[in-house]
Amino acid sequence: LAELNQLTVNEVKEMFLHVADKVIGSKDLLTEVDSAIGDGDHGTGMSVGFKQAIENLNSKELNTINDVFKTIGMSLISSMGGASGVIFGTVFLGGVKNLENTKTLDTNILAKIMTGSLEGVKERGKASLGDKTMIDALEPASDALNESSSEKLSFLEALKKAEKAAEEGVEKSKEYVAKFGRAKTLGERAIGHQDAGATSVWIIFKSMREWVETNNG
Ligand code: ADP
Ligand code: MG
Repeated sequence: LAELNQLTVNEVKEMFLHVADKVIGSKDLLTEVDSAIGDGDHGTGMSVGFKQAIENLNSKELNTINDVFKTIGMSLISSMGGASGVIFGTVFLGGVKNLENTKTLDTNILAKIMTGSLEGVKERGKASLGDKTMIDALEPASDALNESSSEKLSFLEALKKAEKAAEEGVEKSKEYVAKFGRAKTLGERAIGHQDAGATSVWIIFKSMREWVETNNG
């Protein structure tokens, strides 16, 4: 069994199998959110992507934390298709792009990974905070993790703060006018509705926190 505040490769795999289950279980919510201002396919897309991630996590050899993130990223890109497949794949692939191989995950490494994720997504999609995209949740979560890393907070405490920051980001996304996707054409009419991708990011952090609270808290 791994130590407190530090997950092994297998535990990170287990954590993301839980995340995948929760994303798949949120299909209706994500469909509803994307239907309000988008085309309504986000729930189906994420569900397909994370089903593929479960299959690949269970069949591929995973030797490092990097392998886990790469496997999820490749699964999303190959199965979801379209712009959002690349964007969500980049969250995982971009996160470990410049990370040296590691066999443990802690607050400091997750902060590094999410910083890479944010950079990767911004480079790919050219969106910034306030454009009503998943960055509205990812950027505050990444910032919170970096703060937690400098404060040397426990892994669970760091995830709680990241989850809260992502949730607040989803709330704030309601106030924004969209600069990308179908919601862009709605202009001010998109105000009052949260972004679908930001909602997914929040679900991902919430599910990570749940797993750690149950298994490593
Ligand atoms: P699609 O936009 O093709 O219908 P989805 O509905 O699955 O794909 O995903 C939509 C989500 O993707 C949006 O809610 C937003 O969070 C995210 N997104 C779209 N474009 C960008 C972008 N350029 N940068 C970051 N995130 C984006
Ligand atoms: Mg959509």
